[in-house]
Amino acid sequence: METLRTIEEVREWRATGELGFVATMGALHEGHASLVRASAGANARTLVSVFVNPTQFGPNEDLAKYPRTLEADLELCKTAGADAVFTPDNAMMYPEPYRTWVEVEGLTDRLCGASRPGHFRGVTTVVTKFFNIVQPSRAYFGQKDAQQALILKRMTADLNLPVEIVICPIVREPDGLAMSSRNRYLSEDERKRAVGLSKALTEVRKLFESGTRNAGILRGQLITTLDDYVDKLDYAEVVSAEDLQPVNEIEGPTLVAVAAFVGGTRLIDNVILVDRDS
Ligand code: AMP
Repeated sequence: METLRTIEEVREWRATGELGFVATMGALHEGHASLVRASAGANARTLVSVFVNPTQFGPNEDLAKYPRTLEADLELCKTAGADAVFTPDNAMMYPEPYRTWVEVEGLTDRLCGASRPGHFRGVTTVVTKFFNIVQPSRAYFGQKDAQQALILKRMTADLNLPVEIVICPIVREPDGLAMSSRNRYLSEDERKRAVGLSKALTEVRKLFESGTRNAGILRGQLITTLDDYVDKLDYAEVVSAEDLQPVNEIEGPTLVAVAAFVGGTRLIDNVILVDRDS
């Protein structure tokens, strides 16, 4: 496996042939590994980027303390089947004076976008830049970041970007907690309570499967359960999985998404509800 440090090295490495791409911020875990494996299984070669993208962090967020574990990340990438890892620095990705941004309208101002203004502008910009640098045939993202997945699909279609977006399932710990680089911030007690997000979503799914279609009832159940576990709720929403608009009665594919603080750590999780017979 090669480590590529400059844009020029990536361009040289990127010959013709099917190339899969996985964008990450490092501190890699099994969730990231599942994306690398999916890519390695479907493409001649796979490139993983490890870049803590400063433009997707707000001024009071955890950019400075975001975990950086490059040695272990390289090992995980290699084991999962990556052929190269791209580790650019800030100056390479955002040369001064940096002035160009990619914005997706409408989908970006709700859910995580409401509490993290500018977050998705940072994500769509850096992903577009990576697509231009790497020129992948396919790019792999996790359903864990459901809103991000939807936004990136919209962006790719709207801008006619010649890349197929593949969304992979959420990888969870044995107790249900969605794997996240931020889980390592959790204390022992917080780690126990963090399971509340997936517990609450599982209860909602069961309620839906037993016939409940009223979004208010499902949301009420979600909030009641979360209250027992988390320190502060950011949002708990029942929205259309197509356009993220709130729904009253569940008719089509529906995204149930939560963001909550356990201690000082903001965690997200979600489930998609789909009628088996629809
Ligand atoms: P991040 O390093 O947090 O920016 O995540 C990089 C990619 O890994 C994104 O596409 C995430 O959605 C995906 N990802 C993160 N955690 C998980 C998980 N638990 N299961 C599946 N994909 C994940």
